[in-house]
Amino acid sequence: MAPFEAIYRVGRDILERLVNPLRADEQISQFTLSVPEAQTTTVDSVQGERFRPPAVFRCPNCDADIHQQQPLSDADCPKCYRTFDQWTTDDLELVRMTCPRCESEMKHGRRHPKVFDGPEWASCPSCQYHWDLDHWF
Ligand SMILES: [Zn+2]
Ligand SMILES: [Zn+2]
Repeated sequence: MAPFEAIYRVGRDILERLVNPLRADEQISQFTLSVPEAQTTTVDSVQGERFRPPAVFRCPNCDADIHQQQPLSDADCPKCYRTFDQWTTDDLELVRMTCPRCESEMKHGRRHPKVFDGPEWASCPSCQYHWDLDHWF
């Protein structure tokens, strides 16, 4: 990991800890309500690790993008052919998550950075598709 990446990660963790963990949800619902078209559109919301949207991770070995279509499957690096299982991908740097409905890049985040390494929620800014890990209910 390059030094600036480490600094970025630490800064981001501190920021996330300062922000009330529930803020992300509030922002999403407020955003949804403030968009008039959203009321006529079905808002998809799915929970559970099995339904996590397709994600792209950074290969720690060669910096290539690793596409993981299924959250509970292995992911192979297309460049150096290293294989990462479903548990190792949580330790990889998440580059982006893709909306399974409209293929937009999703916003994503964590609510408990000390507990989970992977993303805990993702929300599509285009079609309001929302995914939640839902470990806490
Ligand atoms: Zn690689
Ligand atoms: Zn979408």
